[in-house]
Amino acid sequence: MAEKVYEALRRNTRLDTDPLTDIYGQEKAKKQILASVLAGHHVIIVGPPGIGKTTLARQIATLLPSVEAVKGCQFFCEPQSPVCPMCKSKEGSLEAETIPGVNRFRRIQGSPDLSVEDLLGDIDPSLAFKYGPTDYRVFTPGKLLKGNRGVVFFDEINRVPEKLQNSLLQVLEEHIATIGSYDIDYPAEFIMIATMNPKEHAGTEELSDVLLDRFDMVRMTYPESPEIERRVILEKSRKYGDGIVPDSVVDSIVRMVQATRSGKWADEFEQPASPRASIGLYEKVQTLTLFNGRHEASVSDLLECAGSVLMSRIRISPQSQYYENPDELLEKVIKDVTK
Ligand SMILES: [Zn+2]
Repeated sequence: MAEKVYEALRRNTRLDTDPLTDIYGQEKAKKQILASVLAGHHVIIVGPPGIGKTTLARQIATLLPSVEAVKGCQFFCEPQSPVCPMCKSKEGSLEAETIPGVNRFRRIQGSPDLSVEDLLGDIDPSLAFKYGPTDYRVFTPGKLLKGNRGVVFFDEINRVPEKLQNSLLQVLEEHIATIGSYDIDYPAEFIMIATMNPKEHAGTEELSDVLLDRFDMVRMTYPESPEIERRVILEKSRKYGDGIVPDSVVDSIVRMVQATRSGKWADEFEQPASPRASIGLYEKVQTLTLFNGRHEASVSDLLECAGSVLMSRIRISPQSQYYENPDELLEKVIKDVTK
C-alpha cells in the first residue's frame, strides 16, 4: 500500500527544531497543528483573517518530500501503481517526473456558491455515453482531487453549504471520492488544513457535528507581543527604494494595531487590525512619504495613510458610539497612541 501523506511528512520532518519558521511566534498553535497532522489528523484552524494561516499551511506542504509522479497527471499518480483513469489507460508507457512538496499545495476558497462539482469534479454525460463513464476523457477533476498526495488548504470551510459538507465526509474518511451517480472512485489522499473565522463573523454556516468530528481544532490568534509584531512588519513587508521608516514610526504602527485588539479602545472593534494591516501600513507609509517629497517617514505620514489602510481591514463593533463614524474613531485611536 502506498505511503500516506502524513507518513511522508513524518519521515521528512525534524522535530528538534521549529520546522514552521515562516510563522513568527504562535509556538503553541504551531506545535498543536503539527502534532495533529503528523498523527494523521485533519485540522481546522480557528482564528481571525490576516494572521498567517495560509502561510503556515503552505509551509507544511514544503515539508513534504518530493514524489515521483506520472508526468502531466493531475492526481500525481505513482508511476508504479497509477489510480486515475488516464494513467490506467496508458499503463506501461508512463513517464515520471519529480514533484516537490510545495507544488502539491492546493488552496480552496470556501463560499456559499461552491458546488460539489467544483470540489470533486464532473463527468460529462454525453461523453460518458460515447466512451463509457470510466474513460479519462469524460472526467474533469475538482479542486479537492487535485490535492491528492499533498496538502489541501480549505479556507473558510464554514462558509460552504451543507450539501457540500456532506460530500466532504466520505473523502475525508475513506480518501476516495465517488462522483455523482457514477460508481467510479477517485483517489483523494491528502492532509486537509481548513480554517474558520471566529463565530461572530457574518455569512457563516454552522459546520455539522459529523464533519467537525473529522478534524482537530486549533486556535490561532494575533502576534503575542509587540516584538513579534515588529518582526513580522520588518521582515514580511515590501521595501521601496531608499525610503526610510524610522523606529519611532514602526513603534507607532505596532501601538496602533495593538490598540484595536486590547486596552481601552479594544471594545470599539468587532474585528481588530491583523498583522496584514500592520504590513499594509508599513508599505503604504513608505510610498506616501515619497509623495510628500521626503525619504524618511514621519508619524504625520502615518496618520495621513492610516485610515485608508485600516478602514477595509477592521470592523467597528455595532455597540460602539463610533459605529457610523469609523474615521473619527480611527483618528482618535491613532492620536491617542502616537501622542
Ligand atoms: Zn494519474
